[in-house]
Amino acid sequence: MSSNTDFILAIEDLTVSFDGFKAVDGLTLYINKGELRVIIGPNGAGKTTVLDLISGKTRATEGSIRFNNIELTKMKEHQIVRAGIGRKFQTPSIYGNLTVFENLELSYPYDRNVFGSLRFKRSQAVVEKIFEVAEEIFLEELLEKQAEFLSHGQKQWLEIGMLLVQDPELIMLDEPVAGMTAKERDATALLLKKIAKRRSVVIIEHDMGFVGKIADKVTVLHLGKIIKEGTMEAVQNDPTVKKVYLGH
Ligand code: ADP
Ligand code: MG
Repeated sequence: MSSNTDFILAIEDLTVSFDGFKAVDGLTLYINKGELRVIIGPNGAGKTTVLDLISGKTRATEGSIRFNNIELTKMKEHQIVRAGIGRKFQTPSIYGNLTVFENLELSYPYDRNVFGSLRFKRSQAVVEKIFEVAEEIFLEELLEKQAEFLSHGQKQWLEIGMLLVQDPELIMLDEPVAGMTAKERDATALLLKKIAKRRSVVIIEHDMGFVGKIADKVTVLHLGKIIKEGTMEAVQNDPTVKKVYLGH
């Protein structure tokens, strides 16, 4: 067991084995506070499984995941959310029959504000938070719109907003721009950069053009292992990475 670190996330020797198949195989990965990290890699590389392991959806076979030096591998999913990790899945899970405002309100972590005994004060804080987030996710004019009538991209933003309302220290997003228009992708790049100013972000992404726009550092995963880590430029020029991508 290694000593405390300044990393927000320290993953060491992480392995998960499904019936003998190692989807993640001895992974060691460190994320700095305030960093925006992108994980790329061909289909089946183990990217989503890494997020499943961090969020407690899947149990590790071996290894350690520490968030602010707290070991996560024995914690339950809801405890990990409470510790400050928010995760967005590939498909949006919003409530179509509710408005944008109501979707955001539902995500507000009421139970953390136990001393808000004055009802009015409490709801005031909630409304302020919802307005602030709605503006960040480009939906401030659409708060009363029923969520099912939003565009695909707007639905993805709403789901990001539902995470932001909870103020997580670390946000993890699985292919956030899949299915978006070029314009929506550009807006999302801005949004993610803005989000990363106040917290750490881990993004899984396929779209290389998009990755180039946002990433501080890129980690390339292949068959559950890291084959390269560095700037987008370094990654793109790496012979092993080129081979893996050409092979697919
Ligand atoms: P990626 O997101 O990089 O495309 P995944 O993490 O979804 O890849 O999957 C990596 C590999 O692990 C795949 O071969 C997948 O079939 C396998 N896998 C993922 N989750 C499970 C599971 N719960 N049980 C068995 N195999 C799984
Ligand atoms: Mg995946």
